[in-house]
Amino acid sequence: MEKVVIIGSGPAGLTAAIYASRGNLDPLVISGRGAGGQLMLTTDVDDFPGFPEGIQGPDLMLKMRAQAERFKTKFLDEDVLSVNFKNRPFEIQTESQTLKTKSVIIATGASAMWLNLESEQRLIGKGVSACAVCDGFFFKEKNILVVGGGDTAMREAQHLAKFGKKIILIHRREEFRAQPVLVSLVRSKPNVEFMMNTTLEEVLGEEKVKGVRLKNTQTGKISKLEMDGVFIAIGHKPNTFFLTGEIELDEKGYIVVKNHTKTSINGIFAAGDVSDHHYRQAVTAAGAGCMAALDVEEYLD
Ligand code: NAP
Repeated sequence: MEKVVIIGSGPAGLTAAIYASRGNLDPLVISGRGAGGQLMLTTDVDDFPGFPEGIQGPDLMLKMRAQAERFKTKFLDEDVLSVNFKNRPFEIQTESQTLKTKSVIIATGASAMWLNLESEQRLIGKGVSACAVCDGFFFKEKNILVVGGGDTAMREAQHLAKFGKKIILIHRREEFRAQPVLVSLVRSKPNVEFMMNTTLEEVLGEEKVKGVRLKNTQTGKISKLEMDGVFIAIGHKPNTFFLTGEIELDEKGYIVVKNHTKTSINGIFAAGDVSDHHYRQAVTAAGAGCMAALDVEEYLD
């Protein structure tokens, strides 16, 4: 019987592990096959405090894991297949075993949605990104394509407009889904251009992004543009597929929390992007992980 099982090993899960292990809760982290979370997909991280020269995303996650291991956090490098939160102790089914635990912190994060083009997947981290705050700085005075028509796409374009020479935002329809106020804000930027009824067919380049092949959905016309970066901003999806029917989720699948980390079930806590679609930053996820560990400590007491 575990005292606390932490599902997920991004900044939220590993910070929860550091606090829980230092609180003598002997935590077990089920790190998942995508161990380390979204930061494993980024390069330089310049906005996490404490690293004045910046740090590579994967290095930051290795350091967080080493810090949790220093305080004897246990790790199981497997995926969770299902959970049973109806009985106590709670049960978690992983690829190899069924675990029983008094409490759980869910920190499985969210994943950026991709178009799933072969060229897009191959060039992730080589000019293709889904996080302007993380990677925008590396596109100073460059030409950048943003894909999407919702609030995220507008926010990405707004952020990239500070760095890029020219930002072209393409959307597959005639109307934006984004709030008009955000559309107006982005439209007012002199270096941003909108291309409606346009889809991305291919990202061009072998080792890094060199351009894009676009299609006009109304005329079928194909065009090629030289580009240095491509930002996919078509939304995120929380990694909660294994929780359906076990815990309250909102209409988009995010875990509903009250008082910061408390879920609809007493003894189950959530932290990070799995319950936050607003801030979505490594440092806010880490802060929430800390809060979840302190809440678990109080619950077990
Ligand atoms: P969203 O509102 O679902 O918008 C996704 C956009 O991507 C839509 O325009 C959609 O096109 C497009 N899209 C989806 N799949 C596509 C595909 N395969 N190919 C091309 N385009 C595709 O997602 P979001 O923008 O991430 O926003 C999610 C939530 O977070 C919203 O509630 C939003 O208000 C909130 N949010 C708020 C802020 C803020 O600053 N207030 C910032 C970010 C997010 P269609 O329109 O044709 O479906």
